Amino acid sequence: MSETATSNGTIAVAKPQLNQLNSDGHLRYGKMLIDGEWVEAADGKTFDAIYPGTGETIAKVASAGKEDVDRAVAAARRAFEGGDYKKMNGADRGKLLWKIADLMEQNIDELAELETLNNGKPLLESRRVDLPQSINCFRYFAGWAGKVSGQTIETDMNMRALAYTLREPVGVCGQIIPWNFPIQMATWKIAPALACGNTVVIKPAEQTSLSILRLGELMQEAGMPAGVVNIITGDGPTTGAALVAHPDVDKIAFTGSVEVGKLIMRTAADSLKKVTLELGGKSPNIIFADANIEFAAKVALSGIFFNQGQMCTAGSRILIEEAAREEFMEVLAGRAAKMVVGDPLDPKTRMGSLINEEQMNRVLGYIQKGTDEGANLLVGGERVGENGYFVTPTVFDRVKNEMTIAQEEIFGPVASVITFSDIEEAAAIANGTRFGLAAGVWTNDLKKAHLFAQKVKAGTVWVNTYNMTDNALPFGGYKDSGFGRELGQASLDAYTQIKTVLVDLN
Ligand code: NAP
Ligand code: MG
Repeated sequence: MSETATSNGTIAVAKPQLNQLNSDGHLRYGKMLIDGEWVEAADGKTFDAIYPGTGETIAKVASAGKEDVDRAVAAARRAFEGGDYKKMNGADRGKLLWKIADLMEQNIDELAELETLNNGKPLLESRRVDLPQSINCFRYFAGWAGKVSGQTIETDMNMRALAYTLREPVGVCGQIIPWNFPIQMATWKIAPALACGNTVVIKPAEQTSLSILRLGELMQEAGMPAGVVNIITGDGPTTGAALVAHPDVDKIAFTGSVEVGKLIMRTAADSLKKVTLELGGKSPNIIFADANIEFAAKVALSGIFFNQGQMCTAGSRILIEEAAREEFMEVLAGRAAKMVVGDPLDPKTRMGSLINEEQMNRVLGYIQKGTDEGANLLVGGERVGENGYFVTPTVFDRVKNEMTIAQEEIFGPVASVITFSDIEEAAAIANGTRFGLAAGVWTNDLKKAHLFAQKVKAGTVWVNTYNMTDNALPFGGYKDSGFGRELGQASLDAYTQIKTVLVDLN
């Protein structure tokens, strides 16, 4: 147990018990999956996988270079154009997706532990939220496999004609995902791609490859033909960039920051790849005075502090109507101050470590900026301990929407509370950033709720709840939060293309 004590408090983080060790004392996940084989990088390069709870190295993972990316794309192309996968019909692919879900369920404890070990999030959340939702994602898309169909269309041509559309897969899909929900982001991308008959080359974030590599093993166990899903591990500028630039990749699905999203779009333009982007957010959670204030405050708390605030949908701007401010702040600040940051692997912990030192320093930098620009630091604002990357839940009030902490995505446990006096002002503030991923609105007035849902520019609006996603509900952004939708029936558009067939019957 490595105990760390500072003026900011103490935190006792147990040394992780690593099962399945290699002779070097690390976890066994060192290879990547290309064409159905577990391989090292062609040049033998590796990088360290870190346990954020203690900062120690837990695995050495293969670092894919251009040559490895080329091999993975070639394998995905071969699998797409012919072989066992091509022979599978929709029902077969559905069965395969369902089998993967079953195997994930059988190995849920191990997968949840790996997720926490590699990300630093509380084990309770990995086990109860991330994994069940990922498993359900495969089952949801198993249901779609074979049910994606075209239309017959009547024309007004001066001939007897039969016109119809075919919905065909896009081809080889490059998928690049972030570190905040590693296995969930992987399943959001892999499952719909396979349901529609595509093949995949996926690149996890460098920080979090392990659960996805284990998922690769389970996919093989389920009977996935070689080359259908390839997992290439490595960093963005090398591995990710090679995948985006590759001329034989048909589509890039990306989740991550706005800056990298723009870079990807520019590069993808050269080979005219289809692109979908799920980017950042600065989502407003708007509480009107007529709402159930105590409940709204409790949910607002998890809306920002779940996953240590490292969420694209984090309710990071809390907008409270002046008349209810006092009552709301008492609950919000009181509860935030009592939240305990603890050992990620302790099943009782609700708040774990941030992903790494860089992210922690970024978050602490924003907290400093909030104070410098005149916001009132009400709760938290500090690192806890000296090992790992723990930051206390932080609440600023008296925030103005033009302040940096209200405009930029912090991606950490920092809530900015802003006051408003009427629905017009609330809407102006809510829409007053470059982002548009999600929003929450709290009111008991039905008309106000629906009016607000129309006014706010966001891909998802929650009414009297926050942060509830479901595999059946389309998810994606307005404005700089990106375009394209994942999950739900809408996601099938991103993984299929339409072919029109016109038959002359004269
Ligand atoms: P990031 O730096 O943009 O990285 C995302 C992914 O892109 C990683 O796999 C990264 O690889 C890769 N990458 C970096 N540079 C690249 C390049 N030049 N070419 C190709 N790929 C490249 O974002 P992050 O820091 O990991 O994640 C946080 C961001 O993701 C936040 O802005 C958050 O809002 C966003 N996010 C959005 C959603 C959503 O659904 N809208 C969900 C979750 C997160 P390496 O990290 O290995 O270098
Ligand atoms: Mg990054």
